Amino acid sequence: MTEHDTDYPEIRAEVVKLCARFPGAYWRGLDQARAYPTAFVTALSEAGYLSVLIPEEYGGSGLPISAAGAILETIQSTGCNGGACHAQMYIMGTILRHGSAAMKQLYLPQIASGALRLQAFGVTEPGSGTDTTALRTTARRDGDHFIINGQKIWTSRAEHSDLMLLLARTTPREETRKKTEGLSAILVDMREAVGRGLTIKPIRTMMNHNSCEIFFDDLRVPAENIVGVEGQGFRYILDGMNAERLLIAAECIGDGTWFTEKSVHYARDRQVFGRAIGQNQGVAFPIARAYAQLQAAKLMVREGCRRYEAGENAGEQANMAKMLAAEASWACAEACVQTHGGFAFAEDFDIERKFRETRLYQVAPISTNLILSYIAEHVLGLPRSY
Ligand SMILES: Cc1cc2nc3c(=O)[nH]c(=O)nc-3n(C[C@H](O)[C@H](O)[C@H](O)COP(=O)(O)OP(=O)(O)OC[C@H]3O[C@@H](n4cnc5c(N)ncnc54)[C@H](O)[C@@H]3O)c2cc1C
Repeated sequence: MTEHDTDYPEIRAEVVKLCARFPGAYWRGLDQARAYPTAFVTALSEAGYLSVLIPEEYGGSGLPISAAGAILETIQSTGCNGGACHAQMYIMGTILRHGSAAMKQLYLPQIASGALRLQAFGVTEPGSGTDTTALRTTARRDGDHFIINGQKIWTSRAEHSDLMLLLARTTPREETRKKTEGLSAILVDMREAVGRGLTIKPIRTMMNHNSCEIFFDDLRVPAENIVGVEGQGFRYILDGMNAERLLIAAECIGDGTWFTEKSVHYARDRQVFGRAIGQNQGVAFPIARAYAQLQAAKLMVREGCRRYEAGENAGEQANMAKMLAAEASWACAEACVQTHGGFAFAEDFDIERKFRETRLYQVAPISTNLILSYIAEHVLGLPRSY
């Protein structure tokens, strides 16, 4: 039996052990201070978990996407938050698939060792979230540099990343045939750029996510930092989306598992009117229903990973997995709050923190409506809505 067939029990067991060193109190402290989980991310990097998707020749372990999913699912199921570093696993995929041999050699081994963090992804702008190709940040060629001007928003982990993968317009929209053309993927070394044309401003959000506004003001970036062919960046970003969706879906499954375990434990223990509250079907059924949703979503995540690993088109399954898993984790979260009554609102129970954290995934990295649009148009052949 291969490791894949058994769903990576050894990796999961080791991740559980690592996560046990970062209990609820650790996350609550960070949450209150809106601080980054540096110790947790360092521990994951040192153990090699963030580089599992990087091929062995570049210093990673070259495992398939289901292994990365198993790691993220397990992290979330222990109450920890992989959102602080999940992008370190997959943003590098754009370099791996489209970067030059020199770029791969330069960056991938350092990303694999954790010496370099590439976990900032600059796509969304204040005027273009869902409508990505309407983005207005420009990268103008000037000799052997690009000069970048514009603004990004919601660039997560920007203060805790050395590199950013930026999507910017290199050819004005009116000079391209299609709006998807003329956009380029450029690697920005933020260590050099901060204070020299790049400003990072964190946004205080409902959960601890270090999402930032980024301002580019005549930032000079070496032309060799372009990934692949100029003008093809949008296609490269699309290429990475199935992996991202499957991995976020795996995190949602982990969140749902955490909520359900909490709910079951409490519903068995809590005595009201002299009996366990879980004896009331009004308490038990929402937990059971959410659990059923979670298991169904889990199967879709597995199917998406299977197709992805087989080199088949996994677009339909990756999108459905992301939507179903985000909805299932939310159903589990709702049931957990209701089961705990007033105690759900006490910070010490961690439920309110996880509740805030898991809500994100119905909006980012893609909102549920846009997944429904994808299914309607690309799977069912309904007319395009936008
Ligand atoms: C905490 C956080 C972290 C993030 N991290 C990153 C990051 O690291 N990098 C990055 O680039 N982005 C990031 N994002 C941005 C995220 O991807 C966007 O918020 C998301 O894609 C939605 O875009 P928007 O917020 O501009 O919403 P809008 O595009 O303004 O949409 C608003 C609402 O309208 C709906 N809507 C819009 N058009 C349609 C339509 N045609 N049909 C039906 N419904 C529609 C949407 O579904 C949504 O519910 C992050 C966001 C958050 C909140």
